[in-house]
Amino acid sequence: MTTCHDGQLMILLVDDAPTNIQVLNETLKDDYRLFFATSGSEALRMVNQAPPDLIILDIIMPDMDGYEVCRALKANAQAQNIPIIFITSMRQQEDEVVGLELGAVDYITKPFNPAVVRLRVRNQIELKRQRDLLARLSNLDGLTGIPNRRALDASIDREWRRCQRSRKPVSLLMADIDHFKSYNDTYGHLAGDDCLKSVSSSLLQTLERPGDLLARYGGEEFMALLPETDAIGAQLVASKMLQAVNDLAMPHAGALADEHVTASIGVATMQPGRTTSSANLLEAADQALYQAKQQGRNRVCVWSPPADQHA
Ligand SMILES: [Mg+2]
Repeated sequence: MTTCHDGQLMILLVDDAPTNIQVLNETLKDDYRLFFATSGSEALRMVNQAPPDLIILDIIMPDMDGYEVCRALKANAQAQNIPIIFITSMRQQEDEVVGLELGAVDYITKPFNPAVVRLRVRNQIELKRQRDLLARLSNLDGLTGIPNRRALDASIDREWRRCQRSRKPVSLLMADIDHFKSYNDTYGHLAGDDCLKSVSSSLLQTLERPGDLLARYGGEEFMALLPETDAIGAQLVASKMLQAVNDLAMPHAGALADEHVTASIGVATMQPGRTTSSANLLEAADQALYQAKQQGRNRVCVWSPPADQHA
């Protein structure tokens, strides 16, 4: 949800009649940060610059009417989830139907009843807050609080396409806690959960760039997606991760040689091309992880393309 520096929610009022804007401003100014537009095109420009949390939109305006503004907003991926409340007059009952069909969430009628306006706005703001929260929660892993597999899959796809356009490499790290099943068997599942949380935060601390993403992929498996990162950069991050898990020094009697919690990490770097997809990157990181396990765990292995397949 968009908030100003002072934490207030932003509402955009769009009406060609300054008196209407004045009345709504008086009604809402104590609770929200208000912005004003007196034409449809001005409103669209302002939404592009700083998307508000809610738009109150007059229907009858010269040049571009409220319906057109609504259609344009619903066609814009950045703006389509912003709730729109239409302003109608008592004589325009049929307008309300059209507006709701276009995706408006509610309408308020002129002349304004301040108490009703405040309630309708508050209800819609609360609904949006809950929708945003739900969307965020459905992309987070419940135990560790970091993005989950669903979020990672979406990000890999997006970053793959982005790096394809910018002709930059993408790297993916797949980390798996060694002998985790025996950790659970030895210390119990609650301790296992604590272990996952500790490993998760230690891995998170090794990521320094805002575009990097750490996700819990499932079980004791974590993934780090590093857009615009070459093989050398990715190996550096992987080494830091390996060290970070070792530095936790969590006792693990079932880990045979090391006797503390360790992880194995597979690294894959690809330049997105026409014949490859993000699924190839996942597969490559998985292969490298398998190698790290085979070679004795607590190590980083780097995927290298087959000799006959020059990237
Ligand atoms: Mg008007």
